[in-house]
Amino acid sequence: MEEMMTVAVTETFNFVIENIAADFSEHQKISEKSLSMLSFLFGFTAAQALDLIDKKCISHITSPSGRELFQVQRNVTEFHVCLKDSNYCTCPSFIYNVVKKDQFMCKHKLAASICFAMGLCKEVQYSDETVSLMLIGY
Ligand SMILES: [Zn+2]
Repeated sequence: MEEMMTVAVTETFNFVIENIAADFSEHQKISEKSLSMLSFLFGFTAAQALDLIDKKCISHITSPSGRELFQVQRNVTEFHVCLKDSNYCTCPSFIYNVVKKDQFMCKHKLAASICFAMGLCKEVQYSDETVSLMLIGY
């Protein structure tokens, strides 16, 4: 049952992200319909994610071997790393609320997914070694 729920939420999430990408390429903003779907699915986390996008703190990192990550800057020296193609983030909330409780996604991964759909991530290329180090937390 829980697995079915997760599949349904994942499909709905992908649908919302596709809508946001279409909204943004046509109208340069997220439609009211997409915003209300986001807040229905994610509640307060959606507002926090949109706030992160406003702060322009999200980078899409690629490496020569084709790895892709998102980096969400917290301040000058601290950041969280999210995987692009799976639901993973290095933040404490991911462990406490996503892994241990039933939250679908942390605000960083949500923000990065929306920001990427809007084409608003900073594009950065790093070496494979740097990307590996980022993933293990250095
Ligand atoms: Zn996170």
